[in-house]
Amino acid sequence: MHYFQYQQDELYCEEVPIRDIAEEVGTPFYLYSHRTLKRHFNAFDGAFGKVDHLTCFSVKANSNLAILKIFADLGSGMDVVSGGELYRSLLAGTKPEKIVYSGVGKTLKEIEYALKTDILMFNVESLQELTAINHCAGRFNMKARVSLRINPDIDPKTHPYISTGMKSNKFGIDIKHSFEDYLHAKEMEFIEVVGVDCHIGSQLTEVEPFIDALEKLAGLINQLRGQGFAIKYLDLGGGLGIKYDQESPPHPSEYADAIIKCTSGLESTLIFEPGRVLVGNAGILIAEVLYTKSTELKNFIIVDAGMNDLLRPSLYDSFHEILPINRKNKEEMQADIVGPICESGDFLARERVVPKLEQGDLIAAMSAGAYGFTMSSNYNSRTRPAEILVDGKNYHIIRERETWLDLVRGESIPEFLK
Ligand SMILES: *Cc1c(COP(=O)(O)O)cnc(C)c1O
Repeated sequence: MHYFQYQQDELYCEEVPIRDIAEEVGTPFYLYSHRTLKRHFNAFDGAFGKVDHLTCFSVKANSNLAILKIFADLGSGMDVVSGGELYRSLLAGTKPEKIVYSGVGKTLKEIEYALKTDILMFNVESLQELTAINHCAGRFNMKARVSLRINPDIDPKTHPYISTGMKSNKFGIDIKHSFEDYLHAKEMEFIEVVGVDCHIGSQLTEVEPFIDALEKLAGLINQLRGQGFAIKYLDLGGGLGIKYDQESPPHPSEYADAIIKCTSGLESTLIFEPGRVLVGNAGILIAEVLYTKSTELKNFIIVDAGMNDLLRPSLYDSFHEILPINRKNKEEMQADIVGPICESGDFLARERVVPKLEQGDLIAAMSAGAYGFTMSSNYNSRTRPAEILVDGKNYHIIRERETWLDLVRGESIPEFLK
């Protein structure tokens, strides 16, 4: 459920007609609903209300400072995958003791930064990384809290680009060798083992793969406790899916009930790293129709947002519902909704039946709040879009549209070329 609804054929975000925002800030822009963000966080976090847990928003899904601040104020921690995300999270007011750091390629500089800020823990993805963290922590004469990220070899039944917990993926430590690696970790002077972690993939629409992974991890936890490890945290990652089109993912409460049931005897603090489920349906991308044209085979609707603004359709062939901002026109057409980028892979939707659209019409690509702006680029030297947050009757620019000057910032022509 979200707050993007029609009133007399005009699409609103909460109490603001989207057209009004477009007239002031121009297109394209990302638009987020504060009420939806709050509702989604509370639905997820509240579902685990009965058990000891920490929800850490996955910053890579949407890293705008205002969005992070909303979640931090609701008590969220953050799951970061780079020094830059850690920097943002702290700037938005997240408590360091609520930050977990995942990712296969943490650099020394990033490890040092995370140690200095004293985050809750590193989710470690290889023995070499563990050695690097031990070494860094030694230089600071402190102990680094770590969980090992386990690759449980579970098929999450999602798009191959976003499945992360199978043997063939680069993520985590093979569950078969993980016990040995824990024993290595125990020997390291500046490492404190505090937990077990996994993240098996994204946009999961069933509960079973989560439970399968959980059962494998529970076995490992028991084995580790038998060896005297104090496993305080069980981090189950993110990955809960959302409805883009016809999917019917479990509601957070259904997901939570299943997990709570399987973890009742474990007595660990549960950590979750939801991204998409919190922000995906809380954001949309607004664009204007620049031109329409028809070939023998197809109708094309050319809009002013492209794959540089919203990459998901091109990258994963993913579905975003396309809605007209004004739906008065009841006539329909089938068309490809494409962007201005010089690539045939530049589309928001293909062979889609939409209300008849004309030059100057505004459209919304729905469910674009996760992996939307954060995956945007300047390809074709296009400025990245503005981001707007609606709060009831008001809206706020939370990121200015980039300018051409922003595009060349940091570039220079060396003396010998002048
Ligand atoms: C991307 C990612 C998440 C968030 O995934 P969603 O599918 O958006 O919930 C959580 N944890 C890790 C380690 C990730 O890489």
